[in-house]
Amino acid sequence: MEVKHYAAQNVLVKRGELLRNGVVSVAEDGTIVNVAPITEEEARRQGLEIREGYLCAGFVNAHTHSELSFLDGLFLPGGSMAAFLRQIDAMRVQFDADLIRTAQAKGYETFAKEGIVAYADISNDASTAFFKKNELFRSVTFVEMFGVNRTLGEEAYKVGTQVLREFQEAGVTAYMTPHATYSVSGRLWELMRPQLEASPIFSLHYAETAQEIDFLENRAGAIYDLFHRDWGRDVEAYGLKDMESLLAYYGALHKHILLVHCVSLTPAMLEFIKTSCPEATIVPCPESNLFIEGRLADYDRLRAAGVRIAVGTDSLSSSPSLSILKQLQVVNTYYPTIPLDELLLWATQNGAEGCKFEGLGCLEVGSRPGLNFIKTPYANKGSLAKATVEPLANLRGFCL
Ligand SMILES: [Zn+2]
Repeated sequence: MEVKHYAAQNVLVKRGELLRNGVVSVAEDGTIVNVAPITEEEARRQGLEIREGYLCAGFVNAHTHSELSFLDGLFLPGGSMAAFLRQIDAMRVQFDADLIRTAQAKGYETFAKEGIVAYADISNDASTAFFKKNELFRSVTFVEMFGVNRTLGEEAYKVGTQVLREFQEAGVTAYMTPHATYSVSGRLWELMRPQLEASPIFSLHYAETAQEIDFLENRAGAIYDLFHRDWGRDVEAYGLKDMESLLAYYGALHKHILLVHCVSLTPAMLEFIKTSCPEATIVPCPESNLFIEGRLADYDRLRAAGVRIAVGTDSLSSSPSLSILKQLQVVNTYYPTIPLDELLLWATQNGAEGCKFEGLGCLEVGSRPGLNFIKTPYANKGSLAKATVEPLANLRGFCL
């Protein structure tokens, strides 16, 4: 079997293991055969160029909605969550199935081009089952439920159960998941309980906006008004105290909870996650966060707390790209002192651990985690400006 060798100034093997001038040897089937330091002279002898940048495992996209690629560019930024929900509600357009499927296929192609080898995917219907049963990506699908009161929750549960069955019948790894703090009634949480207890992982949009915190803490604000006043719905979602008792319950069961966004976490909420949800992962989606809320998570505070941070692209409805590198570039722009290898760890090992994608995220000999070369012309300034990703051994995509 042919083995290819790639050398770079930095090889991110795994947490705490960064080689300066290293070579990665990879077999045709994507298996990592060897990872070792290399000198300039050895490289010259072997006819290898030590490229300026990083070699790392394939990227893990820890939060996306691949079914929504057809919403590319339809919504306007700003105005926070209530405005975004209003735009979705106001659209009232039924797109045809071909258009949806073509956009979804293009989205997956982008994943492959962007060096993504695995993704955690929110699904409200089974339209992506066709792709998932034929894919070479690793994926976990979260069938998302929302229903802000008893009646809506019970309807959602019925529909969701059917969608989950469709995925499972297609052989897709799929679990039920709650949508967000403000959209899931106590009744719906209870209906989902047996499923959440049985599954190893779930995802929750959490502390995405200041409006959500207002909703949780005061049962007030723009999201509350939208549901209650404008849409005339009884609002039976939990307040912060009940929400945290619930998360503590699943935290004590060591569930891998993906807490998505966390832009508006208060210090007390962060402390709660740290102490009560040991296997939680914070998954900001930087481009989407700028689009919806106009700001980013407080990465300094998250890092200081020592919680696991991964990264997601979210969907093209709220994010201009499906590029994980782009998400890291956004963080790098606002937080230029975070080391580049730490950012790359969020996109590789942390994502794999958070999503329970075993065998991915690290350049371990014998594993097939994908291999990316990140060209970083300004790495010596700690900058990802003009960085590009080149997938070298990502045998991912589709086998149609
Ligand atoms: Zn999302």
